[in-house]
Amino acid sequence: FAPWREPQAQPFIRFEAITKRFGQFNAVDDLSLSIFKGEFFALLGASGCGKSTLLRMLAGFETPTSGRVILDGDDLAGIPPYRRPVNMMFQSYALFPHMSVAKNIAFGLKREGMPKGEIAARVEQVLKLVKLQDYARRRPDQLSGGQRQRVALARSLAKRPKVLLLDEPLGALDKKLREETQFELTDLQYELGTTFIMVTHDQEEAMTMADRIAVMDKGRIVQVATPAEIYEAPKSRFVADFVGDVNLFDGTVQAVDRGRITLQTSAGSPFTVTSDVAVSNGQAVTFVLRPEKLRIAAEPLSGANVLEGEVWDIAYVGPVTSFHIRLANGAVVKVAMINATRESPLQLTWHDRAWLQFDEDAGLVLTA
Ligand code: ATP
Repeated sequence: FAPWREPQAQPFIRFEAITKRFGQFNAVDDLSLSIFKGEFFALLGASGCGKSTLLRMLAGFETPTSGRVILDGDDLAGIPPYRRPVNMMFQSYALFPHMSVAKNIAFGLKREGMPKGEIAARVEQVLKLVKLQDYARRRPDQLSGGQRQRVALARSLAKRPKVLLLDEPLGALDKKLREETQFELTDLQYELGTTFIMVTHDQEEAMTMADRIAVMDKGRIVQVATPAEIYEAPKSRFVADFVGDVNLFDGTVQAVDRGRITLQTSAGSPFTVTSDVAVSNGQAVTFVLRPEKLRIAAEPLSGANVLEGEVWDIAYVGPVTSFHIRLANGAVVKVAMINATRESPLQLTWHDRAWLQFDEDAGLVLTA
């Protein structure tokens, strides 16, 4: 059950034609976006693309130069941060070092004038939620990085915001802890039903955690979709390249025949591919081929879409073995062989000849 998937759902948050200018520079550029209630939404993009600025306009720390931010039907213009039903968790966690965990969490509630008894109950509840009941009296420096992250999360949830904003929430954690925390955070979000909006430059993190992702570039949104759609049907070369490992071939259309396209490509040999994209002869396109869509063999393969090259790199990474194959013209093709589906050991090592092949419908023709 995913409430934001309901077709009748009204957007909960709307950015309407938002521009944020710093001097002559548009950090956010005429951007419109709708987010639904209960969604775990990710803003994904390279450093400087404007994602934090967008989040800060929702929190009220920045004012749009033009455009409107609507939350639950209300225009947020002129409403100060502390009066918005929005809370932000920062990458640095911003915990008070001299206060206990419980006091850190209670701080904001106290300032709001909440009665003591209620504060105590609230603190207990959120500590339980992040599984830190036994740490209430510790100071932040007596906690691990992961525990500090959970205290920050508990603190930002204590006010029961309608929307929780997470700016690179797992940035300070090591890889293993990050992966664990990703699942904890999605479970928690699901349990609470609170709308989460996360900013990240880490595509794997966005893919793992978010219901939908907005990919941003230079202050604009280039695609909004589910993780699977973003990976399997990127709208542009930029998105295909940004999300996941990929082979991008420059291609020129040589012939088109009822959904079958022959491309002259940067791989040096022609590809025959199926696509419903409208193209004409001579048009320049990008052919997108994910590494796991290629077969690899140690002996010659016949048929269409065969490439021959030399093994340039091999990396065994558990579930997959990943190869870099260098073609005669110098182009390098990435191949990911799923180890579980391998029938017999592949006898390939550095500098061996290797043959690659892919199905006509394995990739994507993009004109943008
Ligand atoms: P990062 O992941 O590095 O935080 P980001 O995508 O979140 O990047 P923003 O912090 O939103 O990017 O910044 C977008 C652009 O706006 C950057 O080029 C930044 O230098 C610029 N910028 C942000 N805040 C200000 C400011 N107060 N004054 C001037 N320029 C700013």
